[in-house]
Amino acid sequence: MDYIIATHNQKKKNELVRILSPLGINIFTDSDLGIELTDVEETGTTFEENAFLKAESGCRESGLPCIADDSGLTVDYLGGAPGVYSARYAGEHGNDEMNNALLLNNLKDVPEEKRTAAFVSVICCCYPDGKTVYSRGECKGRIAFEPKGSSGFGYDPVFLPEEYGYKISMAQLTSGQKDAISHRGKALNALASKIGDKK
Ligand code: IMP
Repeated sequence: MDYIIATHNQKKKNELVRILSPLGINIFTDSDLGIELTDVEETGTTFEENAFLKAESGCRESGLPCIADDSGLTVDYLGGAPGVYSARYAGEHGNDEMNNALLLNNLKDVPEEKRTAAFVSVICCCYPDGKTVYSRGECKGRIAFEPKGSSGFGYDPVFLPEEYGYKISMAQLTSGQKDAISHRGKALNALASKIGDKK
């Protein structure tokens, strides 16, 4: 079965294709199909609601089963912020540099052990027959005191994953290393086993 992915974030799109293709899921982007999916307004207050809004709209517009990710960073000291507002934390949608600067500033006097955080990814897959499947993945870590590394996107330079002993940032990992521990990698693997018979 063929699937379309709904995201306007090119780096996220690359990760989704990179992780799903080896799982045997046949993935197309809207540009592969010569169409352009609407950039849906994320009006939900949970990752699940926003992932559904994107997947449902992509499925309706393309006629194909549609996979969408809604993801973000939750910081314990900030009561879970930026959460669903991660992409627009500093006010301008998708400005990673400003988002990271604001986050570091909001944590400037917070000691290392209180800088705990997690990346969360919720994947929703909507089928033309109305069936909807969800999966979720989390990656625990801490927020660094300064950005490090240049791979990945978003908050990767300021996120120190637990799996690497909080010593290096997500942006210092290779794409394969990131996918093996990331929230998105975990959520997509879980999705692949749920939709296995429809692959
Ligand atoms: P979305 O497109 O509304 O799901 O926004 C997700 C936002 O969360 C991104 O713009 C990033 O700021 C952040 N984010 C999600 N996943 C990652 C990741 O893997 N690395 C770094 N930041 C991420």
